[in-house]
Amino acid sequence: MLIFQKEADLKRHLQMVRDDGKTLGFVPTMGALHKGHLALIDATITQGDYVICSIFVNPVQFNDASDLAYYPRPVEEDIAMLEQAGCDVLLMPSVEEVYPDGLKVGKYYDLGYLETLLEGASRPGHFQGVARVVDRLLDMVQPDNMYIGQKDYQQCMVLKELVKLTGRKVTLHIVATTREADGLAMSSRNRRLTESQRAIAGLVYQCLVSIQAKKGIQDFAIVEKECRELLEQKGLRVDYIQLADAEDLTLLKQYDDHRKVVCLMAVFVGDIRLIDNLIL
Ligand code: AMP
Repeated sequence: MLIFQKEADLKRHLQMVRDDGKTLGFVPTMGALHKGHLALIDATITQGDYVICSIFVNPVQFNDASDLAYYPRPVEEDIAMLEQAGCDVLLMPSVEEVYPDGLKVGKYYDLGYLETLLEGASRPGHFQGVARVVDRLLDMVQPDNMYIGQKDYQQCMVLKELVKLTGRKVTLHIVATTREADGLAMSSRNRRLTESQRAIAGLVYQCLVSIQAKKGIQDFAIVEKECRELLEQKGLRVDYIQLADAEDLTLLKQYDDHRKVVCLMAVFVGDIRLIDNLIL
């Protein structure tokens, strides 16, 4: 696996790969890799792409300074995992390489209401930061395909919108969420859970499954209240449990058999915020 830190070196190399007739598949990450990230790499390999993964902890998408400060950065482990997974190129740019004009000067992306609800409401500025870094990384890599995780459902929609807004010719592939045995969605932040927090974190997925199972049987308001009570009894703090149209994220108060519906959740375990979702 080749490792690049500089845009110019990366571009020179990727031009040769393109000249060889290969398609480029890109997996952007913030590192602290787990099997969920590797599922994206696998999807890229299955597609037959030349695989480029980036690791960049993007300061402009963190609205909580301590979340950024404590974000895990096990670089050596990450490199070993990517080698093992069959990744061709790892891009690990510095903050200066990604934002040569500084962090403060940035384009505004008109993401519409996607930016103001759910994750957007809880993390102001987050999706502008995501759009900005992905736009910049797409400039650097210019891939044919980009692979992203359903785990970050709203982010997938934001990135679809970004591609539309910028007119880029990249195809997005959304990869299913990889879970632990108890259903907990894999996440870099899970590393920060204590043993006792980890033991109850699987409840988030259990709630999603019960919300799915009670579709058409019980009123959503009742199911939601039961889930909230269960989570709160166990010491978890619910940010939101929300139904939405899976295609455009219109918020829904009730199950709706006439649409594809997704249930999205954000829950604090101690100070660690976990998000997850399930298509019902
Ligand atoms: P992150 O490093 O958290 O920014 O995630 C990088 C990419 O991996 C994003 O497209 C995520 O949606 C995806 N991802 C994170 N966790 C999972 C998971 N458990 N299963 C599948 N994809 C994931």
